[in-house]
Amino acid sequence: MMNEIQAAQKDFGILDRVPEGVCVLREDFSVLFWNRCLEDWTGISRSEILLKDIGIYFPHLHQPKYAHRLMQIFEGGPPTIFSAQLHQSIIPAQLPDGRWRIQHTTVTAVPAGNFRFRTCWDSASGYGFRSHDTGVQLDIVKLRQKPSSSNIEGVGKAGKNKKRVTKYKRIGFVKRNSPLFGDTLKQNEEKLAKVQNRNSFYALLVIEDVTDLTHRIQDYRAMRDRALEEVKERKKIEDALIQSQHFIQKIADATPYLIYIYDLVEKRYIYFNRQVDLLLGYTDEEMIRRGGQLFANSIHPDDLSHLAAQMEKFAIAQDGDILEREYRIKHRSGEWFWFHSRELVFTRTPEGLPKQILGTAEDISKRKWAEEAMRLQTERERLMGVITQHIRQSLNLDEVLNTAVTEVRQFLQTDRALIFRFQCSTHKSSRILKVGNVTVESLAPDCTSIVGNIMPDCCLNSNSFAYYQQGKIRAIEDICSAVNFPKCHIKLLKNWGVKANLEVPIMQGENLWGLLMVQQCKASREWQPLEIELIEQLANQLAIAIQQAELYQQLQAANEQLQRLASSDGLTHLANRRKFDEYLMQQLLILAREKQPLSLILCDIDSFKTYNDTYGHQAGDECLRLVAKAIQRAVKRPADLVARYGGEEFAVILPNTDLKGGLRVAKEIQIRVKDLQIPHTASSVSDTITLSAGLACVIPTADVSPNELVATADRALYQAKKWGRDRIVMYSESCLSQV
Ligand code: GH3
Ligand code: MG
Ligand code: MG
Repeated sequence: MMNEIQAAQKDFGILDRVPEGVCVLREDFSVLFWNRCLEDWTGISRSEILLKDIGIYFPHLHQPKYAHRLMQIFEGGPPTIFSAQLHQSIIPAQLPDGRWRIQHTTVTAVPAGNFRFRTCWDSASGYGFRSHDTGVQLDIVKLRQKPSSSNIEGVGKAGKNKKRVTKYKRIGFVKRNSPLFGDTLKQNEEKLAKVQNRNSFYALLVIEDVTDLTHRIQDYRAMRDRALEEVKERKKIEDALIQSQHFIQKIADATPYLIYIYDLVEKRYIYFNRQVDLLLGYTDEEMIRRGGQLFANSIHPDDLSHLAAQMEKFAIAQDGDILEREYRIKHRSGEWFWFHSRELVFTRTPEGLPKQILGTAEDISKRKWAEEAMRLQTERERLMGVITQHIRQSLNLDEVLNTAVTEVRQFLQTDRALIFRFQCSTHKSSRILKVGNVTVESLAPDCTSIVGNIMPDCCLNSNSFAYYQQGKIRAIEDICSAVNFPKCHIKLLKNWGVKANLEVPIMQGENLWGLLMVQQCKASREWQPLEIELIEQLANQLAIAIQQAELYQQLQAANEQLQRLASSDGLTHLANRRKFDEYLMQQLLILAREKQPLSLILCDIDSFKTYNDTYGHQAGDECLRLVAKAIQRAVKRPADLVARYGGEEFAVILPNTDLKGGLRVAKEIQIRVKDLQIPHTASSVSDTITLSAGLACVIPTADVSPNELVATADRALYQAKKWGRDRIVMYSESCLSQV
C-alpha cells in the first residue's frame, strides 16, 4: 500500500505547476503536500515540512479561529475562505523586497485517499477518540449526530460507503503521554484499534498571492477615500459658497444700488439684484427672464450710442478698470430716471477676452434734476443777462424795442414778437381814449407783418386795459378753445392770424406803457411757466430800458440845447467865439493831414457905432441879426461855419477852400449885406449898411497856429477899413491886396 505522502503527491502533484501556493493538510494538521510555489515563497522545503504539524512552522494555525474552521473542512465541511482582508497571511511568506505577501486562501475539503484514522466511540458519553498513524495523540471527538451501531463500526474505506460517513467534531486532543490518557481512554483506544479505518478529509489550501491586487485595492481605496475627502471638501466649499452667495445676495439686496451682470458673449443680462424692482418697477425675475432686454429697451435713446461706445471700451479694459457713465432709464411708470453706473470686467473667456461685466448703478435723478434746474436757471439768467445787455446796449428807444422783440422771438422760437404801445388821447367829448398800435415787431420769415395795427378803443375800454394795468399776464394757448377772454380781443388776434398768444404788460411805474406780445401763428402752443416767467422778467427789463431810453432822449435834447447855448450866440444864433476857436483848431488839424486849404473871412460892419447912435441899440441888434442871416445864407457848404466873432464882427471858416473860393464867398457876403438895404444915413461910406472884410487862406501845417491865421485875416480887415471901408482885402503871397 502506497504511503500517504506518495498518495498525496500523486493526487496533488499537478499543483506543483500552478503559480499559487497549494498545501494539503491532514486532519492532524500534518502537511501532506507542499507545492513548489510554497517552497519558493516560504523557503521551507517539501522534504522538511511533509508530515510535520504545520503549527510547528506557523503556530497561529492552531489558534481556535483557524483550527476550528480547518476542523470543519476535515469533516467535509463546505469550502472556507481566509480573505486577504482579514487574514493577510495564512502561511506567511516574504517577497524578495522584504514585504510580506498578502494571501487569499481558499480551503476546500478533499476526500482522503485512504482511511487513516481510527475512531473509538463511547456510546454512553457520545464522545470518542481517534488515533492517528503517528500515534502521538488521541483526538477527543464528538459525534454530530447520534450514531447507529452500523455507522460506528461500519464505516469503511473512503468512497466505498460515503453515505454512511460519520461526522465528528474534534473538540480537543490528548497526548499519549498525558495523565489524562487514562483507563477509559485506554479502553476506548483498544476499542478504537478494533475499528476499521474509515473515510476522512484533507484540507486543500490554495493560496493566491494578492499582494499586488491588495495594494491596488488599497491604492484604489486610498484614491476613493481621497476622492471622498475631496467630495466632502468640495461639498464644504460649495456649502460655504452657497452660504457666502446667500450672504452676498443679502448684501446685494440690501444695497441701495442696482447690481447687475451683463454677459458680453451671450449679449444679455444674467443677474439683477432686487433693487431693480424698487428702482425700475420690474422684478429681478422679470428682468432676467427677458435677458435684460427690458433693461436695454428702457434706456433713453439719446444715451444708447454713448452706451455702445462704452461697451467697446471693455475690449481693452484691464481687470480692475472701472468704467463710469451716466444715462437715463425709463421706470415702469414711464418716468425717466438718471443712473450713474460703474462697471468692470467680471469674468473672461479662456482666451482672456471680457465675458461678463459686473455693474452697479446708482439713482442720481435727484442730483441730475437739481443740476438741470440749476442749469436751466443759470441758462435763463445768462440769457436774461445777454438779452438785457442787448436791449440796454442802446439808449435809442427804437433800437431798444427792436432788439427786445428780436431777442424774445429768437429765445422762444415764436412766429412773432411785438411791442404794442398805448397812447392816450382826449376825445372831443373829453373822454380819455385808450388807443395803441403795434410799434415794432420781429417776424418769422413767412409771417405777415402787423406793424401799425391798432387795438381799437372798444377792445381796450372793456376790462382789458384795467386788467393790463394791474400788471397781469394773458396767456392763450389756442384762441379756438380760449374761454374767459374778451371776445373783442380774440377777434382781434384772429384778424392778426394768431393761434397762440402771450402778452405781458410793460409798466412805467403805475402807468401801463404797452404790451410785450409773443405769438404763434401756425400752431397752438402751451406756454411753459418758465417761458411766462422769462417773458415777465424781460418785460420788466424792457420797462427799465424804455424808461432809460426815454430819459436819455430827454437828456439828449437838454444836452443839445445846452450845447447850442454854449456854442452859439444868443443874439444872432450864430456860433459864438468859443465855437469858432474850437472849430478852427479842429479844421486846421484835419486839413493839415489832408494838405487842403482853409480860408478865413473876418467881416466888420462899417460905422456901426454911429448906427447905434443914430437908430438906437435895439435897431443895432436887429441890424446885427439881419446881417448874420445874410452872411449865413452866403455860405453853402455844410462844413462852413459862420460865427459872431465880436460885437459887430463876424468870422467865416471855409474848410477845403482856397483863396479864390474864399474871395467868392467874401464877395457874396458883401453883396448879400448890401442887398439888405438897411438904411444907415450916418455912415461914412454908404446910405445903407456895408461891411469890410479881410481874407486869409492857408494850407495848414504844424507851424501854422490858429492865432496866426486870425491875425493875418485881421490885418487884411484892418487894411480894408484903412483903405476906405466897404471893401475886401486879401492876404496873399505875403502881401495885402484890395479886391
Ligand atoms: P468902423 O467902421 O471903423 O468899424 O467903425 P465902427 O463904429 O463900426 O467901430 P467901433 O469899434 O468904433 O464901434 C463898434 C460899435 O459896435 C460899438 C458898439 O456900440 C457897437 N456894438 C458892438 N456890439 C453891439 C451889439 O451887440 N449891439 C449893438 N446895438 N451894438 C453893438
Ligand atoms: Mg468893430
Ligand atoms: Mg465896425
